[in-house]
Amino acid sequence: MKRLLVLGAGTAGTIFANRMRKHLPDRWTISVVDGDPVHVYQPGLLFLPLGAHDEHRITRPRARTLDVEWVREEVFRVDADKKQVTLLDDTVLSYDVLVIASGARPRPDLVRGLVGEDWHRDAFDFFTLGGAQALRHAIARFHAGRFVVQIVEPPVKAPFAALELCFLADELFRKRGTRKDIEITLTTAYPATFEWPLAAQTFGRLLEARDIHVQTSVFTKEIDRDARVIRTIEGRELPYDLLVAIPPHSGAAFIERSGIGDDLAFVPTDPKTLGAKHLHEVFVLGDATDLDVPKVGSVAHYQAELLVENLVRHLHKKPLLGSYEGHASYFVETGGGKALLVDYDHDHEPHVGYFPTGVGPIPMLQESRLAHYGKRAFRFLYWSGLLPGRPFPVGAQPLGKPSVPIF
Ligand SMILES: Cc1cc2nc3c(=O)[nH]c(=O)nc-3n(C[C@H](O)[C@H](O)[C@H](O)COP(=O)(O)OP(=O)(O)OC[C@H]3O[C@@H](n4cnc5c(N)ncnc54)[C@H](O)[C@@H]3O)c2cc1C
Repeated sequence: MKRLLVLGAGTAGTIFANRMRKHLPDRWTISVVDGDPVHVYQPGLLFLPLGAHDEHRITRPRARTLDVEWVREEVFRVDADKKQVTLLDDTVLSYDVLVIASGARPRPDLVRGLVGEDWHRDAFDFFTLGGAQALRHAIARFHAGRFVVQIVEPPVKAPFAALELCFLADELFRKRGTRKDIEITLTTAYPATFEWPLAAQTFGRLLEARDIHVQTSVFTKEIDRDARVIRTIEGRELPYDLLVAIPPHSGAAFIERSGIGDDLAFVPTDPKTLGAKHLHEVFVLGDATDLDVPKVGSVAHYQAELLVENLVRHLHKKPLLGSYEGHASYFVETGGGKALLVDYDHDHEPHVGYFPTGVGPIPMLQESRLAHYGKRAFRFLYWSGLLPGRPFPVGAQPLGKPSVPIF
């Protein structure tokens, strides 16, 4: 038997493995390695601190999400020359083809002053389940002062989640009647709130309308937790009372340990075929790549679908198709029961118009209730359709073009 081994059972690894199982040629098996027994629906972490979702809705036992063999252990090292993976418990797994889908992890430890014994006293993250839970308690007790959401340094996954947290916090504080006593500020190391100008203008208007202050190109030197200030490398001090920090991200530790990643442990990847650039019979998916595409679940999903198609060809000894074009799409919550659908790729600014193409009903890059319902409904679709690898109406084609279902 030949083995297809997948490292990481998050969004990309799970969609890929469940879908690939149905298309494996004879004499091939597929196994997935992940040490974490729980699958977290990460977009749901946005709603947890604001009390809008609880843990049960956004987590599932991993065993229930996988239709293939699951090896419940951490990966320790990859030896690509020997085609072997060593696990933390010293088990050695051989593979014929390897897919790395180990995601990106927030690294608060890389931000001077942020993490210490008093981490989660007045400074929080919300990109982890523990961080979002701790922030929920802090927001419940927060009635006045400076609420600062900070993108400390790229790269980060889903940077728009910082905007969403500001919008939803604004809504919550207004409902509680405390908004007049709370100043909300978004600070970001990025030069704008969004990478494409039209979308940045759109978000700029929405933030201004809600009296949310924005500071761009803020380069953090350190967080002084005693003085409760962010110190920038230019010597400015930005005070806060409650800080929500989104620290820089890196790839998994085993990538660094194995010497197969870049400086931040992301794996150099061919942007079209998703093959690892310097490794034989290794492919990379989702946040684990070094690609210049947003680290978001839709990218993980589109890449997983395309890799299934490509790998089926590859296992039948047909040439790879270079087909991934950098498509990304997601809903951005803007508060008040509205959201915005953003859809773009490498070469195109976020589309305006309607989805499905031309006819609607969901407007793109424009606030709407439908987009909000879309965002809320997506959690259900994630668990029931996307993760199990069922055919999905939206795929790797930009929403501006008709989607061609794969398989
Ligand atoms: C707050 C928040 C809001 C978001 N909102 C959106 C949104 O609205 N829309 C959107 O499209 N995206 C959103 N995202 C981003 C999206 O969730 C991620 O981009 C997506 O999950 C990436 O999928 P992945 O499979 O590459 O990585 P992950 O889903 O993170 O999976 C990586 C897996 O690898 C495993 N792993 C890591 N190291 C090892 C190891 N050593 N051994 C074994 N296994 C390992 C992990 O346990 C994990 O299961 C959001 C993220 C956050 C945090």
